[in-house]
Amino acid sequence: MGQSKKYIFVTGGVLSGVGKGITAASMGAVLQAKGINVSIQKCDPYLNVDAGLLNPAEHGECFVTKDGAETDLDLGHYERFLDLELTQKNATLSGKLLSNLIADERAGKFGGKTVQLVPHLTGAIQDAIELAADGSDVHIVEIGGTVGDYEGLSFVEAIREFAGRVGRENCLYVHVVYVPFIGTSKEFKTKPAQNALNELRGFGIVPDCVVVRTDDPAPAGVAKKIAMFSGVSEDAVIMLHNAKTVFQIPLIIADSGVLNVLNKFTGNDTTPDLKKWQDIMLAQSTVRERDVTVGLVAKYMDNEDTYISVLEALKSAAWHTEVNLEIKWINAETASDTDFDSVDALLVPGGFGERGVPGKIAAADYALRTGKPYLGLCLGLQVAVIAAARRGGLADAHSAEFDKATEHDVVYIMAGQEGKESTGGTLRLGDYDAVLRDGSKAATAYGATEVVERHRHRYEVNQKFVQEIEQGGLVISGTSPDGKLVEFVESPEHPYFVATQAHPELKSRPNRAHPLFVGVLRAASKR
Ligand code: GLN
Repeated sequence: MGQSKKYIFVTGGVLSGVGKGITAASMGAVLQAKGINVSIQKCDPYLNVDAGLLNPAEHGECFVTKDGAETDLDLGHYERFLDLELTQKNATLSGKLLSNLIADERAGKFGGKTVQLVPHLTGAIQDAIELAADGSDVHIVEIGGTVGDYEGLSFVEAIREFAGRVGRENCLYVHVVYVPFIGTSKEFKTKPAQNALNELRGFGIVPDCVVVRTDDPAPAGVAKKIAMFSGVSEDAVIMLHNAKTVFQIPLIIADSGVLNVLNKFTGNDTTPDLKKWQDIMLAQSTVRERDVTVGLVAKYMDNEDTYISVLEALKSAAWHTEVNLEIKWINAETASDTDFDSVDALLVPGGFGERGVPGKIAAADYALRTGKPYLGLCLGLQVAVIAAARRGGLADAHSAEFDKATEHDVVYIMAGQEGKESTGGTLRLGDYDAVLRDGSKAATAYGATEVVERHRHRYEVNQKFVQEIEQGGLVISGTSPDGKLVEFVESPEHPYFVATQAHPELKSRPNRAHPLFVGVLRAASKR
């Protein structure tokens, strides 16, 4: 590869949500497989400063980076595909850049000049891109939304200008469009994609590569037509129909014309080593002897994006433990023993707010009572502690998050968090160390007594009630190094009842299952 750093910009047309993030991450995976050092960044045109206060039902899970940034779920795709640990600088939102700009303006840093979207915001976007690209050979930038969205215009302008900053030959513009199939006329309709490409050109960007998303395979004529109308050569128009699973996309991309485009762009024609992805596909398609059904006790029912990292962590653990996994959604608002009976293990994920909490407590109580394997994540630990304390004699034990008046606040607000309940960026966020009790189930699962996991919480186990919690069947098996914060609890007599205040799902990888998820599936498959 040449000397200069290369930049790949991935934009979308027609509609959002057709897999721009997966496409960007998969292109990165193919470049990595060629031995290239890749970095990646998401730019979101929202006026939010970060994703922390966004409704997960609308936007999907809030992904937390090791340094505590609350980001879009696409960062999770990036981490899983590229096996990187990303940071603040990999998630850029308009709100963050604008609030910095306005703070600079108030501090008098512009020396009397007019502060404008162009060049000040567009300049700040370009600076943020260069900062995130630091240390890599190829930096991939995904622009959220679709080109033409009113709020995204500064980003489109910034990436256009960026070619002037670093040289057009160092920029590859990839536009992802959607081509619908109209059932009544049995035709793929390219018109919306053509319009989207025209619109992009109208903003001064002629794409180097067009990725055409369709539901089903489309005939060759579709690519031809799009090439003709977009001025992009036919071999750089790539058809990408729905894959069986997202981890197939790097293989599909490496097998498509995109590989040539990437080879030419990077000046590196090494054949990608795709074994990792082939192994994942094999693991995924192999039918195993044993079936395991995990009940996900959820308050956002059937909303996969809201629990995407948990679902992905379960899947990789299933491949690792060689079981056929079925995930059964259990509605936390209506959950009963009948639901819990019907699964081999229970998983209570993280969450905020009271809705569904009684059902989650009931799930933990059921698992303690019956010996059914249980994995609790964050709120899943807190409800387990409530269930145990109630079993241990404190009938009104609760979390202060849900019952301000309870005398037995077995889960209480962390010191310094009072009054910050609905404010952004104030939770305990990102990587924190935990020390595990020697010989505990958690330590055995990890094969270590010192672990680092990511966090996102405001409430915490109140160790004043440790006796009642133990009486109810749970012991504290891991704490922060100073012993002040409870990080892990478990039931010593139970086949597998482990809960953590952290979000281990965020560090699971498709080819490296997380030990706590492996632990719960192993226990479940033994039953
Ligand atoms: N709502 C709980 C807290 O703030 C749990 C958070 C979570 O599950 N991420 O502590």
